[in-house]
Amino acid sequence: MAAPAAARTGHFIAGAYSDQSTDRIDVVNPATEDVIASIPAGTEADVDTAVRAAAAAFPAWSATDDAARVAMVRAIGSGLRERADELAATMTAEMGTPITFAGKVQVLNPVGIVEGVADALEAGALGTVEIGNSLVVREPIGVVGAITPWNFPLQQAVAKIAPALAAGCTVVLKPSEIAPLTAGILAEVIEAAGVPAGVFNVVHGTGPVVGEALAAHPLVDMISFTGSTRAGRRVSQVAAETVKRVALELGGKSASVVLDDADLVRAVKITVGNSFMNNGQACSSLTRLLVPADRHDEALEAAVAAAAKYVSADPADPSTRIGPASSAAQRDRVVGYIRKGVEEGATLAHGGPDPVEGLDKGYYVRPTVFGNVRPDMTIAQEEIFGPVLSVIPYTDEDDAVRIANGTVYGLAGAVFSADSDRAMAVAKRLRAGQVDINGGMFNTSAPFGGFKQSGNGREYGRFGLEEFTELKSVQR
Ligand code: NAD
Repeated sequence: MAAPAAARTGHFIAGAYSDQSTDRIDVVNPATEDVIASIPAGTEADVDTAVRAAAAAFPAWSATDDAARVAMVRAIGSGLRERADELAATMTAEMGTPITFAGKVQVLNPVGIVEGVADALEAGALGTVEIGNSLVVREPIGVVGAITPWNFPLQQAVAKIAPALAAGCTVVLKPSEIAPLTAGILAEVIEAAGVPAGVFNVVHGTGPVVGEALAAHPLVDMISFTGSTRAGRRVSQVAAETVKRVALELGGKSASVVLDDADLVRAVKITVGNSFMNNGQACSSLTRLLVPADRHDEALEAAVAAAAKYVSADPADPSTRIGPASSAAQRDRVVGYIRKGVEEGATLAHGGPDPVEGLDKGYYVRPTVFGNVRPDMTIAQEEIFGPVLSVIPYTDEDDAVRIANGTVYGLAGAVFSADSDRAMAVAKRLRAGQVDINGGMFNTSAPFGGFKQSGNGREYGRFGLEEFTELKSVQR
């Protein structure tokens, strides 16, 4: 397996790598607590250089024909596939995602996203439409600033870069400073795919310095941000000064609604698997399990049985299903929420705030299940971003929908029922951007994004591609 520390750590600007800065940010393996690399702490000047390179590359890149861009985007997908093992090992080392999950999901979802975008462009997704005497054309919006989080370091970057490049935009990426190493491999893959210098650039650094400089830069036409609602709000404020477009993919507190006619044990197993996926660190995690009140105890028992199969262990071991939180700060935050759940009177049925026995190093959190959670409790309202599931009893279908919709978020949801019409009717009542019925599979070409404070805009496939364009009406 390739040594992750060998991944390039510098900025990538106008086709050149630079790693000269003495002001650096350590990258820590959350399973071992070892510093495995360091990245340059970028400055406003680095952002300015990268944005100017992207702006200079825009006229030529936006004038290439669709077929040339489709070919390059597909070559990026092939490049990611070729370096899959190295990418997976790098993500496991930088943020603790279990290696088997990394290989299957953290690498292959981005490949699927790339292919979905290329297919959409090839199928004419950005084609001209005639309305009366007008031709309505879609043109690339310009220079895109992409800001991404640590939990799916490759997927979140590719979900922005692939459609932006396919649409004819140029890009400056600021990866998360917690998990920045994957971006070095991605830059090499994009360069090897034949994408010209300046079309894709990477500037490393912190959110308040590099992220805000990107959001503020007058030559950036659009910011595409994925991360916390707190930082997304700040990015919107900073970007407002130059009236640029802002697309936000933010947090979630998604509900899995198990109706009274559903296969309860199957529904619970799927929900537990979803909520503990990626060490409980997915924005669309089903972290609230809503069950009929008279089946609460049965559901809780099934949830505990399913959770018991998640044993915290070294994420580099292929048999591991759950690894550590991605940082010490994240571990402390999650443990704080578990304590809060106990204080507020939820039933601690599995796990808890104590350290995982037998693991002296690493930011591990015990996979935790709470029962008898009331919808107004902190653990039922706030995004925890760790392996903590809340089982919430409801009285009837209306009550279930009210609870499911009763947070500031609206990213995802699930419905389980033996009756597909009934499941669809409830799915339509959920105020969320994507809803899975009876364990429906994730689709990397279907639009992904949030209602309410989970954000605005959509990623993936045809609809994700459209986000990176401006509409122009030409009258004849
Ligand atoms: P975060 O908001 O702390 O950081 C995300 C990115 O924003 C990082 O690159 C960070 O450096 C940058 N940033 C932070 N402050 C900034 C500022 N003031 N200005 C500009 N940039 C700033 O989030 P995180 O901890 O890396 O990721 C976890 C969060 O991301 C969770 O809330 C999760 O739900 C969300 N998320 C959402 C999606 C989605 O698609 N909706 C996907 C993954 C993660």
